[in-house]
Amino acid sequence: MLPKNPKQIEEILKPLQLSSETYGAIKQKMDDDMTNGLSTDQHTLADAKMYITYVRAVPNGTEVGNFLALDLGGTNFRVLLIKLDGGEVTMQSTIYMIPEAIMTGTGAQLFDHIANCIDSFIEDKKLDRTVELPLGFTFSFPCKQEGLAKARLVTWTKGFNCSGVVNEDIVRLLHESVAKKQIKVRCIAVINDTVGALMSCAHEDNRCQIGLILGTGTNACYMEKIERVQQWDGDDESPQEVIINTEWGAFGNSKALNFITTEYDTNVDKISINPGKQIYEKMISGMYMGEIARQVVIKLVDAGCLFDGVASEKLRTPMAFLTKYISEIESDEEFDNFVKTRQVLDELDVERYRVADCLVMQEVCSVVSTRAAYLAAAGISVLLDRVEKPEVTIGVDGSLYRYHPKFHDLITEKLSQLSPHKKFKLMLSHDGSGKGAALVAAVAWRIYCSN
Ligand code: BGC
Ligand code: MG
Repeated sequence: MLPKNPKQIEEILKPLQLSSETYGAIKQKMDDDMTNGLSTDQHTLADAKMYITYVRAVPNGTEVGNFLALDLGGTNFRVLLIKLDGGEVTMQSTIYMIPEAIMTGTGAQLFDHIANCIDSFIEDKKLDRTVELPLGFTFSFPCKQEGLAKARLVTWTKGFNCSGVVNEDIVRLLHESVAKKQIKVRCIAVINDTVGALMSCAHEDNRCQIGLILGTGTNACYMEKIERVQQWDGDDESPQEVIINTEWGAFGNSKALNFITTEYDTNVDKISINPGKQIYEKMISGMYMGEIARQVVIKLVDAGCLFDGVASEKLRTPMAFLTKYISEIESDEEFDNFVKTRQVLDELDVERYRVADCLVMQEVCSVVSTRAAYLAAAGISVLLDRVEKPEVTIGVDGSLYRYHPKFHDLITEKLSQLSPHKKFKLMLSHDGSGKGAALVAAVAWRIYCSN
């Protein structure tokens, strides 16, 4: 059964379907922007700020000890206990809720809440309260680091917007809240989740040079030569490399992506809590992808191309079309009789739909997710070229990458086109945020204790 008005559907989807040349142009613009980000005199012009992480060596498998880790900024907030014993890593973790009122409340409320969660974790796991526990903090927001354990928040992203935290050292805020409790915890390293993904994969595969997150938000980090990092202010001892947190989600903030921006993107940006910010992230990541699809769906309904021109109230509700629906709809195989697509439509209270509508829904989801994956590939391709190694492993984490049935293949396909002479592998990071934080903390703890 053919959908109604195929021509009109095509017109509505067309702005999201970009040519190979366009992806090549995006790659070039991103490369230029990253060069600016690394430089001192052009730094203010750059969207991707290329922050220095102070994480230099990747782990070598000799790391030992017990560590606490915090993972804040993704789908879940977690407290973890990690035992490192050379190559062996064992972990226990608990997910805690962060109510929306706290995500947009004051910084003190947020950090007090985190301290309470650590306190109940210590209680539950019956940890010794008399010995000081070293902690690695995976804090997945843009930070200007002044050292491994000093990180000033530059701006909140995703769903967070707590007052009084921007420009502050988040380690100080954490320690102040923890000090109010009967717990001895010392945060000795702050890392971005991209760094966690890189570290945890490098622990298993030493060709890993890039860490990538495709989840609620998106970002990447990579190993860069210190001589290319003009802002470098650390020592010049070996290794001659440092991990750079690109914060590529902000790419497009100064209009570099305006030439591909659709009305759907503009609408998504408008209803977000940070309009004009994180433009590239809003075209790619899980927090926004469902809403892009919903914008397209509404346009199709109103043009009479879907559901006989009738949208349910839920479908008309901003942010009600979750990115996981895209993953579900695209998981339907031809012979499935649209089981999952029907489930999603039922959940959205769409009352009347036909097979033709299911087909259109699949098409919408596929067009939106393909653009997201190809855009991500353009960014990865820039980093692949910068790393200058013949074979590179990319450590990836994030709910979008994990649960979308085609993201991995789409990225691989586009990356092969954009970096044709590179050998690369995308490797799923297993709990990078926890393990990575513990690995970095382990190295720092050794130095801390020996001083
Ligand atoms: C943040 C990054 C983070 C990414 C993925 C972005 O919104 O700015 O720091 O790595 O989300 O969690
Ligand atoms: Mg995460």
